[in-house]
Amino acid sequence: MKQLLSFLLITFFAVSTLQAQNKDYWQQEVDYTMEIDVDVENHQYAGKQTLVYTNNSPETLDRVYYHLYFNAFQPGSMMDVRSRTIADPDRRVGDRIYHLEEDEIGYQKVKSLTQDGEIVEYTVDGTVLVVELNKPIEPGGTSTFKMEWDAQVPLQIRRSGWNNAEGVEFSMSQWYPKLAEYDVRGWHPNEYVGREFHAPFGNFDVKITIDQDYVLGGTGILQNPNEIGYGYEDEGAKVKRPFGDKMTWHFKAENVIDFFWGADPDFKHVTAQVPNGPKLHFLYQQPAVVEGASEEENAQYTKNWEELVDYTIGAFEYANEHFGVYPYPQFSTIQGGDGGMEYPMGTLITGGRSLGSLVGVTVHEMYHSWYQNVLATNESLYEWMDEGFTSFASSETMAHLFDRDGNPHSGSYRGYRFIVESGKEEPMVTHADHYNTNQAYGIAAYSKGAIFLNQLEYIIGREDFRNGMLKYHKEWKMKHPTDLDFVHLMEKESGMILDWYYEYFVQTTKTIDYGIKAVAGNGNETVIDLEKIGLMPMPLDIVVEYQDGSSEQYYIPLRMMRGEKPMEFDMPRSVLEDWPWVQPEYSFTIDRPVSEIQRVIIDPTERMADIDPENNSFDVPSMLNE
Ligand SMILES: [Zn+2]
Repeated sequence: MKQLLSFLLITFFAVSTLQAQNKDYWQQEVDYTMEIDVDVENHQYAGKQTLVYTNNSPETLDRVYYHLYFNAFQPGSMMDVRSRTIADPDRRVGDRIYHLEEDEIGYQKVKSLTQDGEIVEYTVDGTVLVVELNKPIEPGGTSTFKMEWDAQVPLQIRRSGWNNAEGVEFSMSQWYPKLAEYDVRGWHPNEYVGREFHAPFGNFDVKITIDQDYVLGGTGILQNPNEIGYGYEDEGAKVKRPFGDKMTWHFKAENVIDFFWGADPDFKHVTAQVPNGPKLHFLYQQPAVVEGASEEENAQYTKNWEELVDYTIGAFEYANEHFGVYPYPQFSTIQGGDGGMEYPMGTLITGGRSLGSLVGVTVHEMYHSWYQNVLATNESLYEWMDEGFTSFASSETMAHLFDRDGNPHSGSYRGYRFIVESGKEEPMVTHADHYNTNQAYGIAAYSKGAIFLNQLEYIIGREDFRNGMLKYHKEWKMKHPTDLDFVHLMEKESGMILDWYYEYFVQTTKTIDYGIKAVAGNGNETVIDLEKIGLMPMPLDIVVEYQDGSSEQYYIPLRMMRGEKPMEFDMPRSVLEDWPWVQPEYSFTIDRPVSEIQRVIIDPTERMADIDPENNSFDVPSMLNE
């Protein structure tokens, strides 16, 4: 009883602190019930949708917006024009949309729309549907929208579509009219140019009627496995399917931001169980029929899919421990699409890959179930929190799964230094759709975003960083955290001021470059002169290696971070005077003669994104020989 009471008290305080922190936080809610009937021959379907929208904002809404993503796959669409005019088009898109025939384009044509039973006025503007409400939705109010629409699935170009390069018939993402997100910054009805997504959480009840020889998988738990048969024997299904031309697959998903599915008559369906984790589903073409691959290569691809199962289990176990527990009961890895793309409770990936690449893409997309689908940031605004955090976690997991030594993020640093040198870098605060080049977007989002975390670990220390990542998941899962929410949480975790880090590294393209200017003997002492060449300041880890094989660390905090990281490594450490950012040079003295020193190194862990690592280490004997 006493235990129970203290448990209740702890729970009460934990809940009330959390609420105090987020007292102004709110998020919108959607509940979709959809039924579609697919005409596989013509790649079309007729759809019915009931959408219950709850306005949890403090504002009255007199409009709502939907995305009609399939309309992007038409000659002259914004996505087409963008792809034909950007300096470095995505080669998967190029001018392919421009050349689509009438029966290959995509569309979503709204036939009727009502709000609470009354017909509403709407306009369609490319990929955006604008609805002028008959009756505004008050704060806390709910409205029910009913829509009927016809859709044509585009020939597979980007993410969704029919007949991808590996023979998968239907890669179905962005397939339904989807309500846009309204948050503290207002509506986000971004036109689809092939990039990011941002959507409210909600429940999905989806019925897909399709020819009976198709095997489906996607977001959501299958509600009628015993009717479906093949592949669901362990859930009580009879192997034999019912007679008839078509059958209906019924899926339900709770508290997700999107719903995808894939379908093909040749899908093999394999399941596995993560201990204390979700059930895994794998759906892949068997035999593999990857375009341009030989028979042997296709046979190898099939083998790789078989091996993928155990690696995925290992990845989930690692992720649950290091980045927070996956909250859904299921995850599906489905062959389809045009590379790898994340969706709630699953992913569409291409399968014509080496084992390392197949595991790599699966692990990457899996981590979007942490950074995007569960910690659902607005990825247009914070693309680095989506792709960057995902890249960070997947690189660490791949190093673990394949037993790789060395800095798992070195590729991200190479990419970042490359874009800095090219002069084409753009700040990470750029809206994802609006980067000048795909390359600048890619490196900002994936590489610099991953470095943001690895370098944060350098600044605040390993332990606070790792605890902070777990706390971030715990406090913000099933919500829409922003950049500042994350930075603020890490400030609290580390007890340091970190706004300078965010401002320099995210908001600007200023770079880091520290150097060792001189190491000079002065009797029994040695004086080390450092210089700050780049505009972005950082705290410094300096390691001094002695001729006798020992080494010690000197740590120079940056004054404006108002704190010191704890010792991270098993090595004697001296904390030196803070370095104020305005000061271009800094010197400190070691109580040993220069003749005993072998080498002085700035940041031997190479976590700092110094753009010129050359001047970060200083070999003393070679200096003495000069
Ligand atoms: Zn990604």
